[in-house]
Amino acid sequence: MEEKKRIVILGAAESGVGAAALAKVKGFDVFVSDMGTIKESYKQTLNQYGIEWEEGHHTEALILNADEVIKSPGIPDDAPIPVKLKSKGIPIISEIEFAGRYTHAKMICVTGSNGKTTTTSLIYHIFKEAGYNVGLAGNIGRSLALQIAEGKKFDYYIIELSSFQLDNMYDFRANIAVLLNITPDHLDRYHGMQEYTDSKMRILQNQTEDDAFVYWADDPIIKRELTKYGIRAQMCPFSILEKNGMIGYISDGQYVIERPTPFNMEQESLSLSGKHNMYNSLAAGIAAHLSGIKDENLRQSLSDFEGVEHRLEKVARVGGVQYINDSKATNVDACWYALESMTTPTILIIGGRDKGNDYNAIKDLVVKKCKGLVYLGADNTKLHQFFDSLGIPVADTHSMKDCVEACARMAKPGDTVLLSPCCASFDLFKNMEDRGDQFKALVRAL
Ligand code: ADP
Repeated sequence: MEEKKRIVILGAAESGVGAAALAKVKGFDVFVSDMGTIKESYKQTLNQYGIEWEEGHHTEALILNADEVIKSPGIPDDAPIPVKLKSKGIPIISEIEFAGRYTHAKMICVTGSNGKTTTTSLIYHIFKEAGYNVGLAGNIGRSLALQIAEGKKFDYYIIELSSFQLDNMYDFRANIAVLLNITPDHLDRYHGMQEYTDSKMRILQNQTEDDAFVYWADDPIIKRELTKYGIRAQMCPFSILEKNGMIGYISDGQYVIERPTPFNMEQESLSLSGKHNMYNSLAAGIAAHLSGIKDENLRQSLSDFEGVEHRLEKVARVGGVQYINDSKATNVDACWYALESMTTPTILIIGGRDKGNDYNAIKDLVVKKCKGLVYLGADNTKLHQFFDSLGIPVADTHSMKDCVEACARMAKPGDTVLLSPCCASFDLFKNMEDRGDQFKALVRAL
């Protein structure tokens, strides 16, 4: 009998466990290895599918005999096991690449440095409300592989793709690729900005003339990169500065999509506010319009979408002070857009695990909009060095409780307190959701 092909999965979280389940269903010899501790619920899924697994270490003998390896996006390429696999010529792919082999659904894929979750959720909302048979996957919700393993048969998947997922994608093809922006992020894992940019541009690979590429035309990096590729997909640029040559734009208070048929609505009716959300609303609307969503459905969904938790989320007004949770702002560019949309004096909560941040990008906005800065991190040294000299009152805190108390002391009626920390959360919190949840609970208890 021919031996079964062996698939090894590195990392047993949402994507890894999904990939393992799908590989098992498809009849492969499957093994899962995680350096850390596997969550109880994931162990149950692995056991339920009868999949062999290990945690707390990687047993090389059980891994280096793989025919193909599916690696979690959280494991860097230069970790010891990926390096060994590479030297042995064993292919390493991502969960989405693997899952993509087993579905004929149309794939609408969203990437960019910021705005992925918002835009992916908005596209999903539009499709769902229009009655389409649609699934949501990628960095958001349940893994694509698990949904396919469970036999879900969607006509469309809306997929959020990080640069780490794109790194291990080779044959996967996006029917509609959305590229929102490229700004510095994850420079702790990439060897410079070009390598990170190249990852993002991989969303274009394998697209044909039947596919569409939706992108933000005002982004200087995207503009420059496009000249390097012979792109075959239908080009669908959008802008808020330019109408010429754009498929979508916002101008004179009108939200416009030019093709395939003209569509417009009042900018004021868009449910998401802030400049960054104009881009997200354009990208989502274009993807939906290209997929044949009816005008009245599109208009309705763009105006009633409620937004996503931890993204410029209004928490409460306490003593005349508006508290906003933007815990998802884990890089400087996201915080820039949050500050830019502030209309009242702002106390900014900033800090956490720094990913090589250059705070010069927000310096002018901090001076213009902020009446106070509250540092929140295990180590706030870099923040003191950069911001103290601006002459804005600062407070130094190391827990969310102290932080919220410091904000309440600084704020006067009419002010806004904004948690938009520019940094990852892992120094003091489990993750960005934990940081946002703690903030919300303490604000509501004020
Ligand atoms: P991602 O999934 O790419 O991290 P999110 O939609 O979760 O993006 O938003 C992350 C952060 O970036 C939030 O703080 C949000 O306010 C900000 N943001 C959202 N869309 C954009 C955009 N198009 N450009 C810049 N910042 C954005």
